Amino acid sequence: MTGVVSGRGCSSRPAWAEVDLAALRRNVAALAAFVSPALVCAVVKADAYGHGAVAVAREALDAGASWLAVALVEEGVELREAGIEAPVLLLSEPPPGAMEEAVARRITPSIYSAEGLSSVAALARHLDRRVGIHLKVDTGMHRVGSDPLEVPALARSARDAPGVYIEGLWTHLAVADGASRQDREFTQVQLSALAGTLSALRAEGIDPPLVHAANSAGAIAHRGSRLGMVRCGIALYGALEPLGGCDEPGAMALQESLQPVMSLRARVSALRELPRGARPSYGRLRPLEQDSVVATVPLGYADGVPRRWFSNGGTVLVGGEHRPLAGMVTMDQIVVDCGPGSKVRAGDEVVLIGRQGVAELNVLDWASRLGTISYEVLCGIGPRVPRVFLNGSREDRHEGQDEEV
Ligand SMILES: *Cc1c(COP(=O)(O)O)cnc(C)c1O
Repeated sequence: MTGVVSGRGCSSRPAWAEVDLAALRRNVAALAAFVSPALVCAVVKADAYGHGAVAVAREALDAGASWLAVALVEEGVELREAGIEAPVLLLSEPPPGAMEEAVARRITPSIYSAEGLSSVAALARHLDRRVGIHLKVDTGMHRVGSDPLEVPALARSARDAPGVYIEGLWTHLAVADGASRQDREFTQVQLSALAGTLSALRAEGIDPPLVHAANSAGAIAHRGSRLGMVRCGIALYGALEPLGGCDEPGAMALQESLQPVMSLRARVSALRELPRGARPSYGRLRPLEQDSVVATVPLGYADGVPRRWFSNGGTVLVGGEHRPLAGMVTMDQIVVDCGPGSKVRAGDEVVLIGRQGVAELNVLDWASRLGTISYEVLCGIGPRVPRVFLNGSREDRHEGQDEEV
């Protein structure tokens, strides 16, 4: 292994998540070229969907992203503390009490309430600083955002607040990944509502320079949603569900070019030869159908391998083949039925997500077997799993920068 182990977790643990930064860079570059001239905002909330926010943010910026987006002020602070100076958009209005930290750290708040606006206005006045905000309009997602009819009043207050600068206007699409006619129509309804809101603001002489709507699916499947910037997460991580019914030119080729960034691996920690009828692990749920070699692998549900992985017939890759679990997933470990006469040895690598030889088990396979989406699988890989970053370009870049300075 040549990678850099992250500070979190214990690097001596024979279980790790590999984050292929070269794959991430290729994904960012491919997406940036595809949506150009729209800018790319790399969404790195939830520790970059479990990939490691700081490393991902650096690579994404270097590979062509212009903005970063986070869900929490704390997540923005982590980027700033790491020395990242690129614009960071906070996707929700900060809760009362967190606005000050956001503004102090130059994290761009989304604003959609009068309270949010007055708190940012008070800070801009107090600090005697220009503070950019992005007004968020609820065009149909109905989660956060201001009603389209209320945006003009909010925008007027923002315009009239000294120091406050309306840098962006945005919305979020609810069914950009939907293939049905209804879904595609609803996306158009949302985009029309955003366009209508923008016209209403322009009629009052307010013209936010950055208008954005698209998530990954929107950016790829709905040309009209790209606008000034696309906010992409899952596509950059190479875990976008293939978009059905998508007739955008080049969209299929782009999707096929996106490569998975994360793999989840561990080493066999123990082996036992067990007789037919033995029932490994909690609950003694399933008898071995024949004498078999059972391997213990040190990853469990505390690491993001759900108990359902056993119940739903999940496999792992051992010796380049899919092998079933021999019993219930436990908190820290799984048991794998390697089959009679298996040549597996203690210390051999087991792949839970990723490739081994020609065999592959990807995040989308996990999602469909678990009845969930790739996002939840990735975010579930817990903080005690060390992240190993492969193919980072950080050191090279540092040297380059030193020479320039
Ligand atoms: C998470 C999120 C995104 C990114 O969505 P992907 O489907 O991962 O591309 C974009 N915009 C908002 C508001 C989000 O919450």
